[in-house]
Amino acid sequence: MSSGADHLAALRTGGKQAVARALTALERGLDPAGAPDAETADLLDAAIADPTGIVIGLTGPPGVGKSTLTGELLTSWRKAGLSVGVIAVDPSSQITGGALLGDRTRIRTAPDDDKAFVRSLAARDRLGGLSDHSVAAALLMRAVYDRVIVETVGIGQSEADIGLIADTLVLCVQPGSGDSLQFMKAGIMELPDVIAVTKSDMGAAARRARADVEGALGLVATGIADWKVPVVALSAASGEGIDDLLAAISSHRAWLDEDRHLAQRRQDQARAFMRDFVKSRHGRAGLNRVVTEIASADARKPFEALRRLVKFLDR
Ligand code: GDP
Repeated sequence: MSSGADHLAALRTGGKQAVARALTALERGLDPAGAPDAETADLLDAAIADPTGIVIGLTGPPGVGKSTLTGELLTSWRKAGLSVGVIAVDPSSQITGGALLGDRTRIRTAPDDDKAFVRSLAARDRLGGLSDHSVAAALLMRAVYDRVIVETVGIGQSEADIGLIADTLVLCVQPGSGDSLQFMKAGIMELPDVIAVTKSDMGAAARRARADVEGALGLVATGIADWKVPVVALSAASGEGIDDLLAAISSHRAWLDEDRHLAQRRQDQARAFMRDFVKSRHGRAGLNRVVTEIASADARKPFEALRRLVKFLDR
């Protein structure tokens, strides 16, 4: 076994403290100006080689009900005996200088439940974009937990960034908000695999929001021809529709398992992450120098490849 695989095996049995320590070490190991260190690259490539879980991206505007919904999903999956990791990406921490643990999420887990782990991480920018650290944390948690929820505030960058890591992307829409129109203008309607209209207990406004979403979906070309994006109305307050969302996520999972959809998506994500990582350190000019290497690199070991490529550009 590689040292990365040994480290991963220890994380799987080490409980929440071990995972928390590993996430802190990840942040140190991913130098924002240079190549990942060897130990970090080894661990992350081991996690990519042996994913045990799936990643659900949950995005939408502030106040739409993401945290409440995350809490509901966590509870449902724990009841079903599945382990759950949550990463809440916090754009406000760009102002305070670091994510305040558990601050925005308000998600409670039993302290002695080793199979539920919640962590709030800083966003890349005030638009809620995903930092390298958040993507790496999700990759690692995908190899430790059965379900990983990555919750981002959709105010620009985050909807596109969450595509770097989500197997199933759930976009949350708020009744009475005119969100559908805004999302269409911003090209966001093309991204989700599932759309959740939240707060269905709001009655007519919720029904109208659902009809708006379905209308808007009919007008956009979603990237994937043979997956029809389901629209689920739900209320985290009353519990109505939560099972429908769970069913929609399961159907999408079944679809991903057909025809190598999942393998293809994760490979595309690995290459997109590599391009992003190089570009943030060496700009477009640097990326252009290695873009063909990225296209042909072993996408099953992206962090080993990134060490090589960034070191080459650093010379
Ligand atoms: P976030 O900013 O997207 O994470 O949204 P929150 O989960 O913090 O919820 C924002 C507000 O909406 C809070 O006041 C919640 O109590 C409320 N909320 C969340 N879910 C529901 C719901 O299903 N029905 C109603 N009526 N209110 C909800």
